[in-house]
Amino acid sequence: MNPIEAGNYTIYFNEDCYDHLQKILAIGGYTGIFILADTNTSQYCLPNFLAQLATELPIEIIEIEAGEPNKSLETCTEVWHALTDLGAERKSLIINIGGGVVTDLGGFVASTFKRGIDFINIPTSLLAMVDASVGGKTGVDLGVLKNQIGVINNPVAVLIDTNFLTTLPQMEMRSGLAEMLKHGLIADKTYWDNFSDLGNMTTDDLGALIHWSVEIKNNIVEQDPNEKGLRKLLNFGHTLGHAIESHFLNSATPQLHGEAVAAGMVLESYIAMAKGLLVEEEYDEIRSVILSIFGTVSFTAKDVEDIIGLLVHDKKNEGGRVLFVLPDGIGSAVINKKAENILIIKAFEDYQK
Ligand code: NAD
Repeated sequence: MNPIEAGNYTIYFNEDCYDHLQKILAIGGYTGIFILADTNTSQYCLPNFLAQLATELPIEIIEIEAGEPNKSLETCTEVWHALTDLGAERKSLIINIGGGVVTDLGGFVASTFKRGIDFINIPTSLLAMVDASVGGKTGVDLGVLKNQIGVINNPVAVLIDTNFLTTLPQMEMRSGLAEMLKHGLIADKTYWDNFSDLGNMTTDDLGALIHWSVEIKNNIVEQDPNEKGLRKLLNFGHTLGHAIESHFLNSATPQLHGEAVAAGMVLESYIAMAKGLLVEEEYDEIRSVILSIFGTVSFTAKDVEDIIGLLVHDKKNEGGRVLFVLPDGIGSAVINKKAENILIIKAFEDYQK
């Protein structure tokens, strides 16, 4: 699979990854490597990675607890301390090997440690491969509020080795599919059409779709890296999705990021239909494809009230107005759209009907 140029860095795939890593290490002038993994990726991914890493540089491994509740400033503090205690310096390189929690948090830690050191992302979850590891957004949650603290800063490279997916739990695979569906819905109907029948999908098909998804995201990010306008498209499903994820974060029924975004995309598509942007057949198609993969989340009236209350914290809000990205057809979307609370409530009713 061809590498993808992403502004000042490159995204490499599969067999190309390790050759290019050696080249980066050879010319980077680094004094040491600090690998950040979580409790799962240090077990399932790190041994394979280390077996392919040939370097004379000293290597230290820093492990964090797995899971979204650990994408916090407290974990950052632990990692900053570990880096300090282990002697990290300006010319150290951080390699983040993990899902979106590790790449988001590790990118933020690297971008702020000693005012910024280089980092490489090695995504090991489907969601991190197609979305979180590319585009330069780094950061952590503040309490339950998603991604409230962070910076946009690119890695030195992203290395996508789809072999890591063999140990990824099925529910995490499904979570990653949500962001792939999003890429189709906002930008490419042909891409979306690949997901109507997942039953016949082969590993090769999946590899090609991952590459295609990264191309779609990168194409949007390159046109608007600092999210002044167009990049907001990538937030489709996330206004309600983030609020759903926050609402259930510390509950007995936490929703994975992709699961929450999947529900958010159905809800926001309903709003788009109600506003005349989508025709009913398109809404029905989006709803049935997504619900056939993800099932339906149950929301009580109190859940809906609380989720709507959380929308005031969304990062896209301007002047206190909650703004949505809404599809205006399959493969196209518009930004900065308002929706009345009554319409949001109706969207939840239709979602659960
Ligand atoms: P995650 O990092 O929590 O990974 C999911 C789970 O899978 C974790 O338990 C992890 O340990 C495990 N895991 C990862 N790779 C594995 C492997 N190969 N084998 C076995 N287990 C493995 O979550 P995620 O779904 O990867 O990412 C979600 C996060 O990404 C959220 O915090 C979200 O906000 C963020 N995100 C960021 C961006 C961005 O642009 N920066 C975009 C989308 C999502």
